[in-house]
Amino acid sequence: MSDCIFCKIINKDIPSEVVYEDRELIAFKDISRLAPVHLLVIPKKHIKDLNGVAAEDEGLIGHLFGVVQKLATDYGVAESGYRVITNIGSDGGQVVPHLHFHLLGGQKLGSKLG
Ligand code: AMP
Ligand code: ZN
Repeated sequence: MSDCIFCKIINKDIPSEVVYEDRELIAFKDISRLAPVHLLVIPKKHIKDLNGVAAEDEGLIGHLFGVVQKLATDYGVAESGYRVITNIGSDGGQVVPHLHFHLLGGQKLGSKLG
């Protein structure tokens, strides 16, 4: 989608600190870090949010969580623990309407989710 900031990152139209990339996915550092490790893992396919995930995306989402695991290991938080969050829509606090998973860790995260 041409006016989507994450599609622009995928297309390298705007810069980002890419930490992982393959044919289906890209992961990069969040520009506004909320924890020592704060990565965003996103499918290259433009899907608005979790509600837009279809049955045909099952393999893609499974693959994405495998990459989340790998990045958690690479960034040294797999054992200490980390959090994966996807915000959906207005009440969910979603700002960028391109499906993304926050990987947060590297410190004791707060318990407040709501
Ligand atoms: P959400 O509220 O779940 O939609 O989160 C969107 C996230 O994207 C926020 O944490 C932003 O800091 C992050 N973000 C927005 N623009 C960029 C960018 N150009 N590069 C990296 N992260 C970004
Ligand atoms: Zn997009």
